Amino acid sequence: MSPTQTGPTEREARKVAEAARESEWTKPSFGKELFLGRLRLDLVDPWPSNSAEQIAAGEAFLARLRPFVESIDGPAIEENDSIPDEVFHGLADLGAFGMKLPTAHGGLGLSHLYYCKALTLAGSAHASVGTLLSAHQSIGVPQPVKMFGSEEQKQRFLRRVAGGEVSAFLLTEPDVGSDPARLACSAVPVDGGYLLNGVKLWATNGTIASLLVVMARVPSSEGRRGGVTAFVVEADSPGITVENRNAFMGLRGIENSVTRFHDVFVPAENVLGGEGRGLKIALTTLNTGRLSLPALCVTSAKWCLNVARGWSAERVQWGRPVGRHEALATKISHIAATTYALEAMLDLSCLLADDDANDIRIEAALLKLYASEKAWTIADELVQIRGGRGFETAASQRARGERGIEAEQVLRDLRIMRIFEGSTEIMHLMIAREAVDAHLAVAGDIIDPEASRDDKIRAVAKAGAFYAGWLPTLVAGKGAVPTSFGEFGPLASHVRFLERTTRKLARSIFYGMGRWQGAMEHKQAFLGRVVDIGAELFAMTAACLRAKTERVEHPEGVELADLFCQQARVRLGALFTALWDNTDDADDVAAKQVLAGRYRFIEDGIVLPSAEGPWVSPVVPGPSVKPDIRRHVPQPGR
Ligand SMILES: Cc1cc2nc3c(=O)[nH]c(=O)nc-3n(C[C@H](O)[C@H](O)[C@H](O)COP(=O)(O)OP(=O)(O)OC[C@H]3O[C@@H](n4cnc5c(N)ncnc54)[C@H](O)[C@@H]3O)c2cc1C
Repeated sequence: MSPTQTGPTEREARKVAEAARESEWTKPSFGKELFLGRLRLDLVDPWPSNSAEQIAAGEAFLARLRPFVESIDGPAIEENDSIPDEVFHGLADLGAFGMKLPTAHGGLGLSHLYYCKALTLAGSAHASVGTLLSAHQSIGVPQPVKMFGSEEQKQRFLRRVAGGEVSAFLLTEPDVGSDPARLACSAVPVDGGYLLNGVKLWATNGTIASLLVVMARVPSSEGRRGGVTAFVVEADSPGITVENRNAFMGLRGIENSVTRFHDVFVPAENVLGGEGRGLKIALTTLNTGRLSLPALCVTSAKWCLNVARGWSAERVQWGRPVGRHEALATKISHIAATTYALEAMLDLSCLLADDDANDIRIEAALLKLYASEKAWTIADELVQIRGGRGFETAASQRARGERGIEAEQVLRDLRIMRIFEGSTEIMHLMIAREAVDAHLAVAGDIIDPEASRDDKIRAVAKAGAFYAGWLPTLVAGKGAVPTSFGEFGPLASHVRFLERTTRKLARSIFYGMGRWQGAMEHKQAFLGRVVDIGAELFAMTAACLRAKTERVEHPEGVELADLFCQQARVRLGALFTALWDNTDDADDVAAKQVLAGRYRFIEDGIVLPSAEGPWVSPVVPGPSVKPDIRRHVPQPGR
């Protein structure tokens, strides 16, 4: 049997994900309320702000960072597949490896807003620079140690990583991607600590990091629950071998590793947050960690808008600038409006995180999902707008004497954003789980095949009481009153639409629950659309609020918010229609047949890809038989 067919069942995988999920909601959540049919503008309006000190520190840092970013040779990073040591040193000197860490631990103490603004700026030198900083700070050692480390661990590690020592986060294994239930890397308790064994795949910064966060499974034993545990590991510990550096279609400057652990001793004091808490730590870290990839998507969107504007006005074909042909005008308009909305969503989510009055896990997840999908569409549109030049590398354009524009590179760099830190499919499931949570909470036993008859009867009564109170609230609301939301001026009609559509979304989820009941969790296409609707509603809200907040500074923003809302409303119409009018069932049957080989004949007529080697490399335990290729980035002043 191949490794993909063994291991935990779907039910077990779900159980692991459920155990890692934070089920508590102690703070209000705009995102969660949306799926319950309530547009809680009071949670986001007025637009939150950073304190005067946070703004001063943030602006001062951006002013220092900008000239350094301008000095980075992006094309050289692309050509050499590597970020030069001087860039590491320059970033370390600026404090860019500890942007969000408190000053008491050697960091800059920046707010989420300014951390993300700095990533957006740094990513414009080369997406790999932004990714290096993001992987180090959002999932590497700084964030989980700051959130879950003991005081002693903070003292031991944070100053090092703030000063420029690079860190990495190692969860993925050849057989573990979206499904952590399969995690095989083991941590066996021994005197004073643990012995780690296993192989980790694709860790960003893995070839250059000096500190690692490693997820490994402690076996359960007498009096010990064990479970997936997070360890901080010194990368030069005996028994660690960096066996490969991976190469990708984009982000050519990042350094990702295959790292083998063979009897690596890790002292007990390096366990983060306690045994068995690893996945919860990973998920909680990502609650705000998920803000950083959207910051890099905003970089790309702004960059694409700038190129689209310059090129489309200058390039003349068929008697007019190409941007004045309607087919391209629609793309340019989409890029401009979406860039405005993406930045609004990012800033709003960051400010809500800084404010700390709200739970932002759904907003951050919606943002990651939406920004990665939209940035990809934008970059694809730019390639089209650039015509043949969109497909040509910047180096080739420069060699011909033209301005080198990296449109194809941006497209390649962006593709992974839809896959790592929660793929689009996994984000859909994760957010959908929260969207239907209210229903599961009251109706869980009705749809649970393992619940007893008595439990089901009790659940029916409980659900009846909940729905009797909840359903009437979805029928009427402020959005039906023509004069409501007047404070949004020309955008008021969009906000009324938002209020009405939020209720419609909740009604649709309710109908879905009624129709599929226990099978709802398998209706991934339906749930995906539900989440996409939520993302559009959040984006519209952010765009309208941004325009209202900045109406003095940028009155023209109202036009962009209006445009974005018009476009989003068209997309929402299609999404709502597709909830009930789709080919999901036929697709499901067809996919089964494709997998079973029924339609193999349509693959005839070409030379097929090699069938050599396993789809997933088996992990052979034991010491490494490969040379260690870990790269030591010299530390300035060490
Ligand atoms: C450039 C790069 C950098 C990375 N950096 C890191 C890092 O720093 N640390 C780290 O630990 N990992 C890292 N990863 C790994 C990354 O997080 C995984 O690639 C990602 O989680 C997806 O896992 P996978 O590739 O194994 O895909 P799989 O899990 O095998 O998924 C394959 C496909 O199936 C879909 N799918 C899976 N499960 C479901 C489901 N239940 N329902 C619906 N669809 C599903 C997925 O969305 C995907 O489309 C990196 C990967 C790359 C390529």
